[in-house]
Amino acid sequence: MSDGRELAREFLEQQRQLGGEPVFLSDSRAVGRSDRKAPLPSDRAAVRPPDKSDLPPPGLCYDPPGGDLFSNDPVPQATSLDAIAKLIAGCTKCRLCEGRRHTVPGEGAADARLVVVGEGPGRVEDETGRPFVGPAGELLTKILAAIELPRERVFICNVVKCRPPENRLPQFDEIAACVPYLFRQIEIVKPKVILAMGGTAAQTMLNTKQSLGALRNHVHRFRGIPVIVTYHPAALLRNPNWKKPTWDDVRIARRLID
Ligand code: URA
Ligand code: SF4
Repeated sequence: MSDGRELAREFLEQQRQLGGEPVFLSDSRAVGRSDRKAPLPSDRAAVRPPDKSDLPPPGLCYDPPGGDLFSNDPVPQATSLDAIAKLIAGCTKCRLCEGRRHTVPGEGAADARLVVVGEGPGRVEDETGRPFVGPAGELLTKILAAIELPRERVFICNVVKCRPPENRLPQFDEIAACVPYLFRQIEIVKPKVILAMGGTAAQTMLNTKQSLGALRNHVHRFRGIPVIVTYHPAALLRNPNWKKPTWDDVRIARRLID
């Protein structure tokens, strides 16, 4: 692949696969749904400057207190992602420690502009100790590539760091026990945006019981950091109709990063 147009075409094709609107490049070979024929006047239209004027309305704000630096709780004292991962590796604060093979603290860049929060490790994650590496993870990697964020430049993690048996939902007390790790990770990374994928992540980041459907399409805040809520990639594998709305959500996240 040599010229920029090919790269743009590939990028737009990724967008289309994720349900984005079709875009036509100036040689009028359409990239996108073939039933639409509205060539844009120039290639420039394919790459619009970020426009913050039509962002979704503000939503909830959640400002949990930080941990007490003067207590003997080691979590607020941890100053690096590695230090937190070590604490998680030895953690027995909830019953999920009993069935785990590996803890899955999360991975990615310590200076990431985007933190992705999922629910909890699945089978492959428990076997490898890495987040989002099973089928849902492959889809997440594609979603991130489509907004030009390679996986390595993002910090990817979960609400609970040990696999719930049979992939059941994490329970309230398990989430409460584990969430200080997540909140400290976010404090260290200081991202520009948080993408909460699925109901568990969204409800935990925003301290609410509202449904995913009600929480989408708002710019919420966690300690001042914008939070965008979208479907969980595992849900997208079951229901491809949600790809288009997910694509809309991640584009909003992308605009908030730029
Ligand atoms: N689902 C999640 O929520 N997290 C993972 O890491 C993998 C699948
Ligand atoms: Fe500790 Fe979290 Fe694992 Fe529970 S899920 S044992 S709180 S690391």
